[in-house]
Amino acid sequence: MYYDYIQISKINDFLFCPWSLYFHSVYETFAQNTYKASPQIAGTIAHESVDQEKFSTRKNILQGREIFSQKYGIIGKIDIYDKDKRELIERKRTVKEIYDGYIFQLYAQKLCLEEMGFKVKSMKLYSMTDNKTYTITLTKQQKTKFKKVLKDMRSFNLTSKKCSNHNKCKNCIYRELCKIDV
Ligand code: SF4
Repeated sequence: MYYDYIQISKINDFLFCPWSLYFHSVYETFAQNTYKASPQIAGTIAHESVDQEKFSTRKNILQGREIFSQKYGIIGKIDIYDKDKRELIERKRTVKEIYDGYIFQLYAQKLCLEEMGFKVKSMKLYSMTDNKTYTITLTKQQKTKFKKVLKDMRSFNLTSKKCSNHNKCKNCIYRELCKIDV
């Protein structure tokens, strides 16, 4: 059993760079503009209708529901779950590429829901601006990587090496705080 629950929403940040997650966590109590770039703010707004349960009043739809898994030590919120279709949907403002972070977010939600007694037959990523839907399935390797990422998140410490990908650092909103040479 885990006592240090990992927030599902932080998995993507960690995959981008563990240090960016550290900075994100440190600054998240500040006003949003100080630690989020504008596409991220748009992404937050895209979720607002779900969080406020405005998307649908249909009884077969779970919206913005808090979820957790004791087995994996993860906690978060789903976007939309259709009980009849047993379908889990995560809406993003615009999906340009299907990153591991998106896949792991849905997979983590599925694991939580199933532990809570809701079967998940399909996972979908919905891109709002171009109205595209992507069905998400995981390979065996991706499932193994998912478990490794959770383990790495638990064992991360501040003496870890910073990112060596200059392109990533150049576009990172934390580069000034990070004091990395780019
Ligand atoms: S500047 Fe580079 S090392 Fe620092 S948080 Fe951003 S991506 Fe990570």
